[in-house]
Amino acid sequence: MASRPDGKPTPENFRLDNAPIAEPGDGEIALQILYLSLDPYMRGRMSAGKSYAKPVDIGGVMEGGTVGRVLQSRHPDFAEGDIVLSHSGWQSFAIAEGSTLRKLDPTATLISTALGVLGMPGFTAYAGLLTIGQPKTGETVVVAAASGAVGSVVGQIAKIRGARAVGIAGGADKCAFVRDELGFDTVVDHRAPDFPAQLKAACPQGIDVYFENVGGHVWDAVFPILNDFARVPVCGLIAQYNDASPPPGPDRLPGVMRDVLSRSLLIRGFIQREFVDQRPAFYDQMAAWIASGLIRYREDVMDGLEAAPEAFIGLLEGRNFGKLLVRVAN
Ligand code: NDP
Repeated sequence: MASRPDGKPTPENFRLDNAPIAEPGDGEIALQILYLSLDPYMRGRMSAGKSYAKPVDIGGVMEGGTVGRVLQSRHPDFAEGDIVLSHSGWQSFAIAEGSTLRKLDPTATLISTALGVLGMPGFTAYAGLLTIGQPKTGETVVVAAASGAVGSVVGQIAKIRGARAVGIAGGADKCAFVRDELGFDTVVDHRAPDFPAQLKAACPQGIDVYFENVGGHVWDAVFPILNDFARVPVCGLIAQYNDASPPPGPDRLPGVMRDVLSRSLLIRGFIQREFVDQRPAFYDQMAAWIASGLIRYREDVMDGLEAAPEAFIGLLEGRNFGKLLVRVAN
């Protein structure tokens, strides 16, 4: 990271550097990175403001989940050629502590899925929806960024639980994918001029669970049609991540709080790692759902580490279509 962004990140906030590859010490592994995951939380790591995690230093390597191949191992559990999940960031080669790695089975699934549907985003959907949202048969579950890594899984799990899944996505192609490929009951385009009216029509029984990925104008359309006792897992607010200051206008918090009280709403934020004890069950369950065709996924893969800045900037503008990955090496 070359500099901190002011508002939207630009290519100038990043720099491609060359440096010698280090040697692994005792307990460490040398990795060649194959896939880098690009995720919205990285915008938070670029700002110095208070957050739930430490920011990246200026001049430091951007943080990120990665899948890599072991080049050299000084840890008893790993051997040359193993494929592992690591958190090595935006780089082609890395040294990692063996104790922080998870070995992947490349014969079981595509290794890239460890960064998406079978990784952190899939787990976020699983834990947030089932633990906080608790959808029940016949209820209406709404999720925005519905074609993306988290949202696509939220809607499909809602269907598995017998709920009605309503997706919100940007543009005709994403909407068609969410409805026709992922099997949501219906989908609404948040870019349509009459989006709030379309959403209301798509939810004739109101909304019982709203999985919040976005905030902004999507939240404004959802809030009035939340049912009594609705649950709102607050997972992400991507529409706000580039905001340098609060939006103009009157303070709407008192009105929101009045409705939280009178409609008995549950609005509960979470960071996925708080549910870490559910991860083993998630890996088993998600692998079974994928194998049986109950969960489908889409990846959006860019080639070459140098593609990362532009791809990441696009993620914050909705230019990705599916789980965004960079193929760093073949
Ligand atoms: P996605 O793959 O869904 O990509 C982001 C999508 O957000 C875009 O494709 C776009 O979809 C939508 N979007 C971007 N800007 C806006 C906007 N201004 N208004 C409306 N929609 C917008 O990303 P992820 O699935 O990885 O992440 C989804 C959310 O989950 C994010 O908010 C992320 O921060 C959060 N998250 C939270 C975690 C936690 O532990 N709490 C863990 C992982 C993710 P479209 O074009 O359809 O609008």
